[in-house]
Formats: sequence, structure tokens, C-alpha cells
Amino acid sequence: MNDSIMLEARNLVKHFPVSGSKNQVVHAVDGVSFQVKKGRTLGLVGESGCGKSSCARTVIRIYEPTAGQIFLDGQEITNLSQRQLAPLRRNIQMVFQDPYASLNARMTVREIINEPLRAHKVCSNAREADEMIFEMLDRVGLSREHANRYAHEFSGGQRQRVGIARALILHPKVVICDEPISALDVSIQAQVVNLLKEFQEEEEITYLFIAHDLSMVRYVSDDVGVMYLGKLVELSESNEIYEHPLHPYTQGLLAAIPIPDPKAARAKTVSSIEGDIPSPISPPSGCRFHTRCPHATPLCSRVEPVMADVGGGHQVACHLYPQCTPGDSKE
Ligand code: SF4
Repeated sequence: MNDSIMLEARNLVKHFPVSGSKNQVVHAVDGVSFQVKKGRTLGLVGESGCGKSSCARTVIRIYEPTAGQIFLDGQEITNLSQRQLAPLRRNIQMVFQDPYASLNARMTVREIINEPLRAHKVCSNAREADEMIFEMLDRVGLSREHANRYAHEFSGGQRQRVGIARALILHPKVVICDEPISALDVSIQAQVVNLLKEFQEEEEITYLFIAHDLSMVRYVSDDVGVMYLGKLVELSESNEIYEHPLHPYTQGLLAAIPIPDPKAARAKTVSSIEGDIPSPISPPSGCRFHTRCPHATPLCSRVEPVMADVGGGHQVACHLYPQCTPGDSKE
């Protein structure tokens, strides 16, 4: 496995203006940093509204970053114009959440998969394009007979296979998967995830995988980042985060996963998170989780904990770990 950093965000910020207000903004992403090595998958998890999808869309420059830096394969892409970015888009593609909405209903599957080939002038003639499209249909588990059909003729799982074919036809280095399985039946989810993993093994693709289903994220990710209200609060190797979650928010998220064994469920010591996620327009002071945290102290509402490595590359931002409390604010 190559150890090079393929995708990196440094202190990424994305604020959206609030309509009708001059001063207020939605703090969708607030200083998020991560690195994803070549051929690996970083899963970003959190409740809906935590900023994970905004983060993914900012990384791929669908949204313009408010501040911070983005690097693709060592090249900074933060301030490139859309024109400068166009040739690089070949290397960074996206699989969207809703295969019903993301595929143009008026286009055949052939036309949908041909779009990126045309945009990047990959093929010299239609026959060459068709060969690539048929080969890709075969790889995603569809057949060349499907090429002349329209998206609405397919099931949700088949549509997502078309979405994956469209994203992967250019052999990108990085694929942003924005909740690619959330809209699918449980029985289909594993098939789509396995398909993404197969491509990764064959082509060393780097994935940023956004999801709220923590059990599937464990299966698909090498590393997992947990987001809360625009902030990354914990980041570690996947098994480590599931076996030794450190942040009370991560512990609450894991406690909310249903356990099929009633005995094990009764033995659970951590309860799931109470209350609603606060407004991202005026996030709580200090630690943003303090309004819902069972361990909160006065320090938590006053001082923001910093993200710190508490051992073995396991990073967390919580005052329960002394490394996370800035030196001048220790009580
Ligand atoms: Fe809870 Fe305080 Fe840690 Fe925030 S910093 S998660 S409020 S203990």
C-alpha cells in the first residue's frame, strides 16, 4: 500500500449566509482537518446536520470554501478557478446519495455514463466510447442491454450502479461518496458497498465516505472521523474508534446502534444521546457538545477543547483528556 496522502483538508471552513440576515451565518464546517492516504477510505459520520455532507462538497469544490486549504494528490486546489479545476475533476469524482435524483431522467444510461468521457475528451470516436461504457456496465454488474434504457426503468440499487459507473469511468484517484447507500434497501446496501470496495482494490481509489449508518462505515472504512455541529471531534483507525470510543458523542452514537442480543443490550453502560442538535447559526460556546454531554463541566461551556493525539494516532477533542485543554485555560 502506497503511503502518500491523496486527499487533505486543513482547517477547512464553510459558512453559508442566512437569507435575510446581514451578520448571521450557518457554521456548516468549522476548522476541519484530515488526511486520507492513497487507496484508503476515511468514513465521516455524525447525525444529520453535523456538516459531513457540506464538508465533502467543499472538499470537491461544489461549495467554495470560506477558509482553509484543500490538497489533491499533493496539489493545493483551494483557490483554483473552475477553469483551472476542470482538468483535475477527472481525478476527483462523486457518487451521490439519491440515485433517483442524481441521474437525468431524460438521458439513457449510455448517455449518462458517456457524459464525463465527452467532457474530458477521452475517446476519439463513438465506438471507442461504447466499448468503455459496455465494459464499465459489466464491471458494475449491469449488461450492455441496459445501455439504451432510461434511469426510471431501474431499481434503486441498479441506479446507484449507474451512478458508480459514471463516477468511475474516468478512473479517478479520489471518489467522494456522499451517503451512497442511505436511500437503498438494506439488502442492496452491502452489494453497493462491496462493489465500491472491489473497485478500490483493483484501482487503489481513495474514498471519502459520508454516512450516518455507523455499522456500515466500520465495514467500509480504514479510518473514521466523527463530526458534530461542523467540528471533527474524534478521528482514528476504524476498529480502534469502535472498540475504544473516547468522545462522549461517539460513545452516544455507538450506543444508539441496536444490539440484536438482548443480554448484551441490557449490559450496555453508555446511553444514546439525548436532545436535539443545536442550531448551527449560533453554536454553543466552548465545546459545542456541552448542551447534550453527560460529562459536561463549567470548563466545557467556557473553553473549546482542541483536537489532540491521545496515543497511537487516536485523536479526540474533549476536556476529559488533558491533552485537549489549552494550557492557559487549565483549572
Ligand atoms: Fe463533554 Fe466537556 Fe468533553 Fe465536550 S469537552 S464532550 S462537554 S466532557
